[in-house]
Amino acid sequence: MDIYNSDLHIHSPHSIGVSKSLNLDTMIDTCIKKGLNILGTGDILQPAWLKYLENNLEKNQDGAYYYKNIYFILQTEIEDKESVHEVILFEDFDMVRIIQKKLKAYSKNILDEWGGRPRINLSPAELADVVSDEGALIGPAHAFTPFKAIFRQNKFETLEECYADAAKKIKFIELGLSANTDLADRLESLKDVAFLSNSDAHSQDPRSLGREFNRFDVDNPSFNEILQAIQKKNGRKIILNVGLHPKLGKYYVMFCNKCRRRILFKKVKKQVNTFFNQYSITDNFIIYYSSDPISSRLDYLERVSKNKMNCPACKEQLNKNFKVKLGVSERIEKISTYKEPQHPDHRPPYVNAVPLIDIIRSVKDIKSSTSKTVLNDYNRIIQELGTEYEILIDMPINKIEKFDQTIGTVINALRNNEIKYTPGGGGTYGQINLNI
Ligand SMILES: [Zn+2]
Ligand SMILES: [Zn+2]
Repeated sequence: MDIYNSDLHIHSPHSIGVSKSLNLDTMIDTCIKKGLNILGTGDILQPAWLKYLENNLEKNQDGAYYYKNIYFILQTEIEDKESVHEVILFEDFDMVRIIQKKLKAYSKNILDEWGGRPRINLSPAELADVVSDEGALIGPAHAFTPFKAIFRQNKFETLEECYADAAKKIKFIELGLSANTDLADRLESLKDVAFLSNSDAHSQDPRSLGREFNRFDVDNPSFNEILQAIQKKNGRKIILNVGLHPKLGKYYVMFCNKCRRRILFKKVKKQVNTFFNQYSITDNFIIYYSSDPISSRLDYLERVSKNKMNCPACKEQLNKNFKVKLGVSERIEKISTYKEPQHPDHRPPYVNAVPLIDIIRSVKDIKSSTSKTVLNDYNRIIQELGTEYEILIDMPINKIEKFDQTIGTVINALRNNEIKYTPGGGGTYGQINLNI
């Protein structure tokens, strides 16, 4: 058996908002720097992208597709009739073409230039049936995010509720930004499914592609081995999920659906009136002050989940009412069956990671994400020490510290969960707060 780092959900230039320079060559450049061995192709049902991949991917004797020295799993994301997003993995191009043909009847945009993530007019259960009857693998994407996700506010609370009889065909869910194993294992309905941590990348930028990944222990990098690992068969398995700390994700805490400010609670000694009327508004946050922030927050959360909480900032500044929405953490709190996570035996550990480029940026206190200095430092550390994943996850800290003391200290703190985070929400990533 061998170890493969795999990111099984990305997009192509045929999805909205994807970098035009994303192609096999630019993708594998990033894969090599990061230490990523298997990549989802993204958007495999889109005709031009499908053709491009058919022309360029080769197949080895194990049935694994590859381009140069990186392996690929044929993959797409679909939006179903309930506006739930699903990730689908295919064995080979024949299977892709058969499923594309079957889904064509239910979709207006599956063959479009911009149909990278097609909308299919089938219920989640019908879609799961069509896809898995052909042997492909399907599961809900970014399962807890507030938009287009199975467990979003006022939507489903269990797999069974969403997929009915087809629920047993769902073998994985994608944690997505803002959730991790500790959060997702508070739902009983997820105890038997595998968790995937994928990037959902819209570009080949090393801050995006492979930002989250799964470590598989399989015989070879083919679809069949991945399928067995996800189903925990024949000793094949996922041995590690790696991703952002949930607080760094874009949807961790409650936010206003209009101004996108995040909602936080702070403790004050004396509350002068009800906490609803005692708040401050900043560019990015609405902070409520309460003498008992824990119970105030619960009270607030209850109102938000009933769609009853208006944003005070929008009320003051626009004189309009816009609703506050639950973030991933509060939604999980709301629908969880357990107060504490109950990890089943098969669940691998989840490791927090932050893209190395962002660590370098924080350490150097550089704001720009396209800074040349940061990029040069990134390339240099990788050249000297090894791949990004080795540096973030596996390498002894003293080796990193010898190269750069501060970066070593930060990575050590990240690995040991000793970093403070400003939580993300409303579409804005959270931040690491360094005091080193
Ligand atoms: Zn999606
Ligand atoms: Zn607002």
